[in-house]
Amino acid sequence: MATCPSCNTWNPDDKVVCWRCQTPLPKPEPRRSRRTPRVYWGLPLWAWVALFLFFLFNLFLPIFLRMGP
Ligand SMILES: [Zn+2]
Repeated sequence: MATCPSCNTWNPDDKVVCWRCQTPLPKPEPRRSRRTPRVYWGLPLWAWVALFLFFLFNLFLPIFLRMGP
């Protein structure tokens, strides 16, 4: 809910101006949901994925090379 700064009348949240004195109401601050990047054991998820891919690459590259003609 919002209270009119001019006449102290209660106004519903969706009201832009006071229904009593037509004073523009201060907008309630929008709640910002801060997106904190997910961190696992000190590293963000993309870093773990990159490490995993790097590990897989190193693990399978010799196999692929051996499979070649
Ligand atoms: Zn008012």
